[in-house]
Amino acid sequence: MTIVTTLPDRRLLLVHAHPDDESIGTGSTMAHYAAIGAHVTLVTCTLGEEGEIHVPELAQLAAAAADQLGGYRIGELGAACAALGVTDHRFLGGAGRYRDSGMMGLATNDHPRAFWQADLDEAAGHLVEIMHEVRPQVMITYDPDGFYGHPDHIQAHRVATRAVELAAADGVAPAKVYWTAMPRSVLEAGLDHFVETSDNPFAGIDSVDELPFGTPDPEIAARIDATEQHAAKEAAMRAHATQIPATSWLYSIAGNFGAEFMGVEYFTLAVGEKGPGSGPYGWEDDLFAGLALDGPDRSPVAAAGLR
Ligand SMILES: [Zn+2]
Repeated sequence: MTIVTTLPDRRLLLVHAHPDDESIGTGSTMAHYAAIGAHVTLVTCTLGEEGEIHVPELAQLAAAAADQLGGYRIGELGAACAALGVTDHRFLGGAGRYRDSGMMGLATNDHPRAFWQADLDEAAGHLVEIMHEVRPQVMITYDPDGFYGHPDHIQAHRVATRAVELAAADGVAPAKVYWTAMPRSVLEAGLDHFVETSDNPFAGIDSVDELPFGTPDPEIAARIDATEQHAAKEAAMRAHATQIPATSWLYSIAGNFGAEFMGVEYFTLAVGEKGPGSGPYGWEDDLFAGLALDGPDRSPVAAAGLR
C-alpha cells in the first residue's frame, strides 16, 4: 500500500553493516538529527549472526550452536533505535536476506547468503527503493576500506556507492555522501591518554600510523557536536549487550573523556559540495550545510516503511 504523506525537510539515510555499528559509529549524530525533527532512516545490511556473545547465559545462541544470535540482535537493534529516537529502521532486503560474513578470510565469507557474496546490483536495488521512498539529501556509510576492513563494512560501502549511482539515474540520489572517519588528532589524544590506563585499548601501539584508521585532520569535512546526545548514544550501545560488555573500554573512555568522546562524531565528504564551516579546516557543523532544502517533501511513502 502506498500513501502520500509529508516528510520532514531534512532526511538522513545511514547504511551500516551490523546491528551495533549505528550506535558505536554514528549514534550521537542519529540522535541529534532525530531530536531536531529530521527524518532518520537506518538501513542495516545483516543481522550480525557471527558476532561474539558477551552475555554468558546467551552463549548458546551462537552461530556454531543454535544460530539464533541474528534474530536476538533484531531486538537489541530495536532497543538501540528507541534510545536514539530513531523510528525508521530496516534491514537491507528484509531481515535475514543477507548474512553476517564474519571476519575476512573465514569460511563464513562463503556462506550462500553471506553479504560478502551479495550481487551488487541486487543489493543496491533494495537501497534505491528506499531512496525513492525517503528521498534522503544526505547519506552516511563507510569508506572503501569499511573503516577497519571487515568484509561486511567494505560491502556496505560498495552497495551504498552503487545505489547512489543507480539512484542518480532516477533523480533520487542524495546530494551529499559522507563516510565515517576518525581524525588523527583525536586518535593521538586517545593514545596519549590511555598509555597509563589498565584497560588501554591501544596497548602495544606506539603510533597512530599503526592503526587501520585515522584521517588527516584537513581531510575531515564535518564535525558533528552532539554532546547533548551522549547519554542516548551510551544507552543505545548498552542495548547491544551481547556485543559490548559492560566492562568495555568504550565505556571507560566515555568515563574519562566524557560527553565529547560519546557525543562528537566526524565524517569525510565523498560526494557533494562541502558547505560553510569553521575552524582551521573549515569543518562543517551540520551535514545539511550548504544544501538548499526543498521544504516538506510530498513524495509517496509506503505506509509500512514509516512505522
Ligand atoms: Zn560491524
